[in-house]
Parts: sequence; structure tokens; C-alpha cells
Amino acid sequence: MKPIKTVKGTRDLLPPATALWNHVEAVARDVFRRYNYHEIRTPLFEFTELFTRGVGEETDIVTKEMYTFTDRDGASLTLRPEATASVIRAYIEHRLDQRPGLQKLYYLGPMFRRERPQKGRFRQFYQIGAECIGSDSPYIDAEVIEMVLEILRALELDNLELLLNSVGCPECRPRYVELLRQALQAVAPRMCESCRRRAVTNPLRVLDCKVPADQPIIERLPVLLDHLCPACRGHFSTVRACLDDRAVSYTIAPRLVRGLDYYTRTTFEILHGALGAQNSVLGGGRYDGLAEQLGSKVPAPGIGFSIGEDRLVMVLEEAGRTRVQVSPDLFIAPVGEAAVRVAGILAAELRRSGASVEVGVGGRLKKLLDLANKSGARFALIVGEHEIASGRYILKEMESGAQTELTREQLIERFSSHA
Ligand SMILES: [Zn+2]
Ligand SMILES: [Zn+2]
Repeated sequence: MKPIKTVKGTRDLLPPATALWNHVEAVARDVFRRYNYHEIRTPLFEFTELFTRGVGEETDIVTKEMYTFTDRDGASLTLRPEATASVIRAYIEHRLDQRPGLQKLYYLGPMFRRERPQKGRFRQFYQIGAECIGSDSPYIDAEVIEMVLEILRALELDNLELLLNSVGCPECRPRYVELLRQALQAVAPRMCESCRRRAVTNPLRVLDCKVPADQPIIERLPVLLDHLCPACRGHFSTVRACLDDRAVSYTIAPRLVRGLDYYTRTTFEILHGALGAQNSVLGGGRYDGLAEQLGSKVPAPGIGFSIGEDRLVMVLEEAGRTRVQVSPDLFIAPVGEAAVRVAGILAAELRRSGASVEVGVGGRLKKLLDLANKSGARFALIVGEHEIASGRYILKEMESGAQTELTREQLIERFSSHA
């Protein structure tokens, strides 16, 4: 029989690579803790309508990338393509607006989109994200952006560029879109096929076009930042002032409108130099009207972001930021049947005191030491009949070959301080 493989666009994450994933997630959780964000876990599938209403009918995600299926009772369900709509649904469903203060929620986990597989893109991919719901204050925007940068800083990533824009609000954006639609009437016939279509269906998305020939045309189109209403202009300038206060540098990117319909006001993206053209590691923005769009009776303005964890891990690998321990501290090499049992007792004690320990399961000493070497352990401990009788074990530092004799108590002492 032919062995069964993974589905196209999905992959297994194996050790030692998973250690880097764990490290990224641990760093993110720690930064979230410091900013008083708490974890939310929502289901991996939801009613399809949540995403058509929440993400937007006209978006690529909804029109061609969702994994949608009919349940046995006829309900249309969809594997979540992103998490913001789910978080807002939970916010409304559990009346989180009744809880005191802002709701600062983070999530991590898999999302599903049927994209064309390419480097760094998977149909099951992972996101780390956060949402701060309950305030439209520009100070929150600055804090969220600062927090994201803090996660990247804690991962020792540099060579980052923060792109910043404001996409306005229901007051000023429709006027701008109309202006854009009119401007596009004259030039769209000279543009690529998707721009010609979007000029009519969703003019904002024309700004996302990457076709080189279209760029000079796009550069002469009206810019949304020039058409913000006074409230949006004030909001944006406070966000900028707060980032300046914190010495956070950014580039104003007037074309950064992002793919999803729900964004309002602040949008941002962080690029990393190591990935060439497709180098965005995360994006986010404000979505003040989303909750109402999903049926909330009370306004619940919010801002959030999501980090593409697959890409982030790839960037860390390319930048050589992979110093994560995957080897045990100690490999115990027991020689003989009686020694295997003694080794088991020693290992349990050492593990309890915090050391990472591997125990060889029989065989000759040479073979065991060879295995110790391959395991990457810094030390090997030799346990034979002689060592058991004398109560003194030989600890060998693998790299130098230096050996010391230690009693059980000395060993535990040695590896507790190590842990
Ligand atoms: Zn506005
Ligand atoms: Zn185009």
C-alpha cells in the first residue's frame, strides 16, 4: 500500500524546528503578560456568515480562499481564515463589554486559507495576534504598535520597518473612494485586468496592485491621507505623536489599505529585510465599526494585529536567530542491566531538580557515548558496576573530554544550579 502524505499546502512541524516555534510563542506570551493581555481561545470553525459579514464579501479571503463545508444538519461552516471576527463574536456573545476596563485579548493558533502554495505560505498557517476592544483612543493604537515591536525586539529581530497609515472612517472614506473611482475611470483601461475590475468593485484595492506597469498610474491617484475628516486627521496625528514620544520610527505609507474591509483609521504593517519582496511579518489596524457589523448593540471600537508565525519563524531562521536549546543537559550511559535501573533513579532525581536528561538503554559504552555525542548533550554520565559500588560516577564533558568523579549528591547539586 502507498503511504499517505500530508495534504498539499499543509506541513508537519518537527523537532528541532518546533523548539523555535515554542520559543517564539513563549516570548509573545511573556510580552502579552507585561501589557496585561489575556488569552482567548475560539473554535477553529464558525458559521460561514461570521466571516462573510466580518471579513467582507468582496475580499479575496471570502471569495476564493475559505474552507467552507456543509454540516450534516445543513449549516454552512467555515474553518477560520483569521481570528478577529471570532474574537469580536465572542466579545458580543459573552457580553465582555460589561466587564470593567478594556478587553485586551490575545490568541495563537492555526488559521486556514486555500491559497496558492508558495514559499512561506501554507493553507494551514499559524497566527499570533491580539485585540484591544473598548476604546477608540489613539493612545491605545500607539501602545499596541509598541507591544508588537517589543515582541520582535525580544526575539532579537532587527532590520524592521514600520509602515503606518490611516484609512479614515465611514465619514471620510466613502467620499475618498468616490473620488478614487472617478479618477480611475480615466486611467483604469490602461491598467491590469484585476485593477480594471477593482476600479468598479473595490477601488481601494487598486492601491494594493503590485504590477510594475501600473505603479506610475497609481502614484498619481489621489491619496486618502489628504482627504481625512478633521476627527481622523486629529486621531492620526496623536498616534504619530505618541510613537514619536517613544522614539518609534515609522514610514508613512499612504497606499497601505490592507485587504480586509473592516479596517478604520490606523493601519500598520511591519516589514523585515531578509525576505525580499514578500517580507511582511505582521499587519494590523483599527476596526471601529466591526462589532456593530457583527450585531453588537453597543459600539466596541478596537484595534489589533496578527503576526504570521510561519513567516516570522522563517525570518528568524534566515537571520540566524535560532539559538534555542534542543539538546539535553545530560546523557546517562548505563553499562549493564543493574546500571540501567540505577540510571533511571538518578535521571528521575536530576529531572526533578530541573535538568533535561536522556538515558541510554543498554549496549556497550562506546556505542552509548557515541549516542550521547549525537544527542548534543553537553555532559555524559557513566554508570557501570564499579561506579554503583563506589557511589561515585564519572561525568564527562563531551566537548573537552574532561572527566570528573561525582557522588549522587554532588551530581544533583551540579545540575540544579545548572537549571
Ligand atoms: Zn474620518
Ligand atoms: Zn494593477
